[in-house]
Amino acid sequence: MRTEKFDVIVIGAGLGGLTAAGYLAKAGKKVLVMEQHTVPGGYAHEFRRGKYRFEVALHALDGAGPGGWAYETLSDLEVLDQVNFQRMDPFYTVQMGEDEFNVSADPMAYEAELIRHFPDEAKGIRSLIDAMITIFWEVRRFTADGKLNRRPPMMEMPAHYPNMLAAMSESWGDFMSRHIENRQLQGLFSTLWAYYGLPPSKLNAATFIFPWVSYHLFGAYYPEGGSMAMSRALEATIKKYGGDMRYRQMVSGIEIVDGRATAVLTQKGLRAEADLIISNANAPDTMLKFVGREHLPSAYTSQVEDALAKPALGSVAVYLGLNRDLLAEGWAHHELFIADGYDMEAAYEAVLNGRFEEIGIVISHYDQADNCSPDGGSVVTITSLAPWAYADTWGTGGDLDNYRKNPHYLELKQAAGDALIDRAEKAIPGLRDSIKYVEIATPLTNYRYSRNPGGSFYGSDQTVDNMYINRLPEKTPIPNLLLAGAWVNGGGMSAAMLSGHNVARTAQAQLDGKTAVDLFSVEMEQPQNDEPAPAPITPAPVEMIVPDVTLTAVSSQRAITLNNTGLPTVFIFHTQETADASTAINKAVRGHYPLAAQLMVASVVDLHSLPKLFRKFATGAMRKSYKQAEETLPAGAKAEEYVLILPDWDGEVTAVCGLQDVDKKAAVLVLDQNGQAVGRHQGDELAGKTMEMLTAVMG
Ligand SMILES: Cc1cc2nc3c(=O)[nH]c(=O)nc-3n(C[C@H](O)[C@H](O)[C@H](O)COP(=O)(O)OP(=O)(O)OC[C@H]3O[C@@H](n4cnc5c(N)ncnc54)[C@H](O)[C@@H]3O)c2cc1C
Repeated sequence: MRTEKFDVIVIGAGLGGLTAAGYLAKAGKKVLVMEQHTVPGGYAHEFRRGKYRFEVALHALDGAGPGGWAYETLSDLEVLDQVNFQRMDPFYTVQMGEDEFNVSADPMAYEAELIRHFPDEAKGIRSLIDAMITIFWEVRRFTADGKLNRRPPMMEMPAHYPNMLAAMSESWGDFMSRHIENRQLQGLFSTLWAYYGLPPSKLNAATFIFPWVSYHLFGAYYPEGGSMAMSRALEATIKKYGGDMRYRQMVSGIEIVDGRATAVLTQKGLRAEADLIISNANAPDTMLKFVGREHLPSAYTSQVEDALAKPALGSVAVYLGLNRDLLAEGWAHHELFIADGYDMEAAYEAVLNGRFEEIGIVISHYDQADNCSPDGGSVVTITSLAPWAYADTWGTGGDLDNYRKNPHYLELKQAAGDALIDRAEKAIPGLRDSIKYVEIATPLTNYRYSRNPGGSFYGSDQTVDNMYINRLPEKTPIPNLLLAGAWVNGGGMSAAMLSGHNVARTAQAQLDGKTAVDLFSVEMEQPQNDEPAPAPITPAPVEMIVPDVTLTAVSSQRAITLNNTGLPTVFIFHTQETADASTAINKAVRGHYPLAAQLMVASVVDLHSLPKLFRKFATGAMRKSYKQAEETLPAGAKAEEYVLILPDWDGEVTAVCGLQDVDKKAAVLVLDQNGQAVGRHQGDELAGKTMEMLTAVMG
């Protein structure tokens, strides 16, 4: 077995991996990219038939214009020097039932058009677009604050980025319904749900809003030469700065020694060592197959298994090379969405049930922005969303060996393709008769080329509860193994590049012995607080009746009645700002009384100053703390007995216990096993005071 040594190995040459490799190579690191396919790009690639060149995936790239969030990367990595980008305006056209709308790239022109069609909703349309743009500016401020190392502590974030965090905590449907009511307008405005794979009721609002504004303010672009041109340009930059690209290398393992990743192994027997590894291959394969459960804490393994259990939707794509020139015929649409009606929830049901004859489609005509067909010809792709599970995994029963020769698969694939062509034929009469080349791709095809579970192209699904703080993070329990791409940052080519950019910052800082603030995630390092310490708070009197109230613990859902735990109990009252006290007290108490059967320690988190809209966000943060605490427990210890985080949403329990200002100084309340208070203290030296009070109870 040959062994080589690199600073960084990147597994997978999708846009996330290529971007990470590009930044690190440019920073002077010795980089190796290992890709199972024969070309770079992951989904960002192409194939050819005769003189026709087919884009595999890209319809519209957001944020590629000056000021857009992909622009910095495209510029830094010299893609803009190598590729021309065409801005699409109008952005897209929608046919819903009998109606047709042209959607201008300019948000104000689009707003005016919507108001023309729905005058009764004028006020709501304006406030909706205003609200979305406000959120977008907060995202930009959040990113800028990260770059300047000026982000506030987690629990102060709602005050700084209220609209951004609220949007991350609710569904697009809920967000939109606060502004507009007309169902047709809602359906029309939500057309791009098809780009994110979930209908308004399920899709995270921010996942719709961020790219919507990015598309409309900073352009919906298509690169000349297709997304493959971007991939090739990134590859050229990596090589220019000394990076090494190896294709046909299917990674099969990551060696772990003393908890650190040391080398990458491929099926062909290549073994390469590195100080740091970034995986752009899907997260479940990376963590569960390459690393292995035996090297991971069980809580993390469950999180990865959870992501694996809910991959986002895949697609059916019908790639057509036509022997007629649609441009010459005056066909004007780069993107034409066609749906039978305005009900996006019904459209989603049709997708889930594989009813291709009534499914929503988008027809992309690539000659509008790219020179991809011979004279007199056209390249058109018809795409719909599609589930992996359809008809028992597309007639294969889950047996993917040689599935491309399986007659059941071929029959179902052809039928789905035919249904889509029939639907498109209504918009392009004579379409079928002008087909020179046709290729049909299913979610299984997506899997074959990208290895993404479920043939998903957004990673795990982008629901309210599975984005941002709740998604798999870039950092893994293996300190020098990082993740990049859709499984971390959500789907989309710009999102993949942003993820690659961010992970490169993290990796470079780690390699250089520094720290980097995560630019895009709400999980962040806490800046040092230079403010003078608040004045000490006088300890409260001990005599008190402990209230008979029940709080529900985060994650375990265990119900804890304050005056009836059946054990001597330490309740720690704090907020996010004073959460350190909880760690210190737990450490001190468990040092003396290690068993949950001896006594209970629970945190009561006072959340009264948190607006209601942020409850989901706070729950996500507390679940994260639960997982982190769980990972520190000794083997065999049950987290539900040792990690008790009790949200006190309106602060009433804290108040009834006679406590206030726990955001300035945490407090502790010690009870005996009969639920009687034996002591209470707020202020400094909490761990020591707690131990003193416990001595009285425990003897
Ligand atoms: C039909 C379709 C239409 C789309 N339209 C758009 C659009 O209009 N706009 C937009 O922004 N996005 C679009 N997307 C989504 C976008 O393409 C993806 O979200 C994005 O490209 C994902 O990038 P990624 O970095 O996560 O990696 P991926 O593209 O998933 O690449 C992962 C890479 O890892 C490699 N790999 C996996 N396992 C291994 C292994 N064991 N060893 C070595 N290599 C491995 C794969 O071969 C692949 O190259 C579309 C996708 C599809 C399929």
